Amino acid sequence: MPADDVTVLQKCGDCGAEVGAFTVKKDNMMLMSDDTVWCQECGADRPEVRELAGRLKAIEEERKTYAANLPVNASS
Ligand SMILES: [Zn+2]
Repeated sequence: MPADDVTVLQKCGDCGAEVGAFTVKKDNMMLMSDDTVWCQECGADRPEVRELAGRLKAIEEERKTYAANLPVNASS
């Protein structure tokens, strides 16, 4: 997956169940939505809630990489 692509999760605005996901260019990312999605849990169309997938994981990975690249200068 190219670095500038992000995965957006679609969730049920009522019960929070994940109902779908799609990948989109970061530049075209739209987390605001007036759409409704079919929720199997509710058995009804519900307001769509969009959420960025893997955001926390990405931040964590970034921190790890950053920490690993820090110079060791504890004894200066
Ligand atoms: Zn639901």
